[in-house]
Amino acid sequence: MSTAARVAKNPKPRHIPQRTCVACRRTMAKRELVRVVRTPSGAVEVDTTGKKSGRGAYLCRAQECWRLALKKERLDHALKAKLTAEEKEALLEYVRSSPIAGEDK
Ligand SMILES: [Zn+2]
Repeated sequence: MSTAARVAKNPKPRHIPQRTCVACRRTMAKRELVRVVRTPSGAVEVDTTGKKSGRGAYLCRAQECWRLALKKERLDHALKAKLTAEEKEALLEYVRSSPIAGEDK
């Protein structure tokens, strides 16, 4: 299916902000992704509100992507920061303990 055909089917596209997952590079609606932010103080943390100031990177709601982003240091590159072991552990812990961890859904 061509892109043109898809556009023609949606004559009134809604303006949904799109972001790219730093791990799998898939683009999707910003609200479908989880924002990780490097705060001005240099700490890296999950931004559940999406409103924290600082440099942000987005990951989709799949544990695989979080593991990949941390293992391959995609997140480090995206945030231009060197994540500490503690920060990486905290991010993985967040993914494990949150509803986004579900692999079925
Ligand atoms: Zn992803």
